[in-house]
Amino acid sequence: MKRISFIVFFLLLIITILYYFTNNNNIKTNTTSSENIEVYYPSYNITKLDNYIDSFVEEIIKLHKQEYNGAKLYLDYDIDVDNKNIHTTFYTYIENENILKTNITKITYNKINKEIIKDNEILVTSNNYDFINNRIIDKDKKLVALTFDDGPSYNTMKIVDILKKYNSTATFFVVGQKVDKYKNTIKYLSDNNMEIANHTYTHKLLSKLDETSILKEIKDTQEAIYKITNTYPTLFRPSYGTVSSKLKRISPMPIIIWNLDTLDWKHHNSKKIANKILSNVSDGDIILMHDTYTASRNAVEIVIPKLKEQGYEIVSVSELFYYKNVVPINGKYYGYIK
Ligand code: ZN
Repeated sequence: MKRISFIVFFLLLIITILYYFTNNNNIKTNTTSSENIEVYYPSYNITKLDNYIDSFVEEIIKLHKQEYNGAKLYLDYDIDVDNKNIHTTFYTYIENENILKTNITKITYNKINKEIIKDNEILVTSNNYDFINNRIIDKDKKLVALTFDDGPSYNTMKIVDILKKYNSTATFFVVGQKVDKYKNTIKYLSDNNMEIANHTYTHKLLSKLDETSILKEIKDTQEAIYKITNTYPTLFRPSYGTVSSKLKRISPMPIIIWNLDTLDWKHHNSKKIANKILSNVSDGDIILMHDTYTASRNAVEIVIPKLKEQGYEIVSVSELFYYKNVVPINGKYYGYIK
């Protein structure tokens, strides 16, 4: 009998603790919204923490009204609770003319000593972060654009996966006549925010073609890509990178060449390709590779972490134009963007 009452007591104790525990974690989301503001923040039923968060949110809204008049403000949060701490990471997005500025602030409440720590570390540098094409870019870093010619190929999606792994993107200059065969790859490029650009339809030497045929090479490729992605590419690279005065005169798009050639087609040696990049790269460079070779893919895997160590963000050519404040002009040719 004594044993049973002990078990009953014990069970009741557990139920009480569980009830208290779940009730105590019944986190409520508060909302403030107006035309320009959409704000979500939690309250925990812990007066000290809730007051702290309330005044944090008030401060953000006040600051936004003072400094970013007209821009949109979004604030929401991510909660992580463990035995000792409640971590609330706030994400503040300020949107102005298609640019999102992101601030990240972590507020940690220690359940044992009831202290609050606000982590400003990320906030300090985050003023220079941009949110673009689903990636966060540090605008203080050097920029480099990797470009891949002559695809799509069996290799292309694998390169995309490597780029994604490192929060990076690239520009793929595709050959129009391959587009239909690699529909899924084109879709994969576009779904993963890679830039698809025009590299002629048949990869003929353009200097041997008349004006009408050159324009047809460009237009047919534009249409083939549009059919799959619903978007027209905005950049053109002539086959073999040959630019004539005729091409400059008639090109309906900016002409993108490169200033760092990996010669991957010649070497098929991933270490050599990677070394060529790492010992020559500088801010604003456009690097030529081919997504048609496995050695090039392996070189990407070597080179991206090292470029990041050297302080580079890996961007598309269009992003390079954007961050270097250069407006691309049709018919003009660019080997780098500084
Ligand atoms: Zn080519």
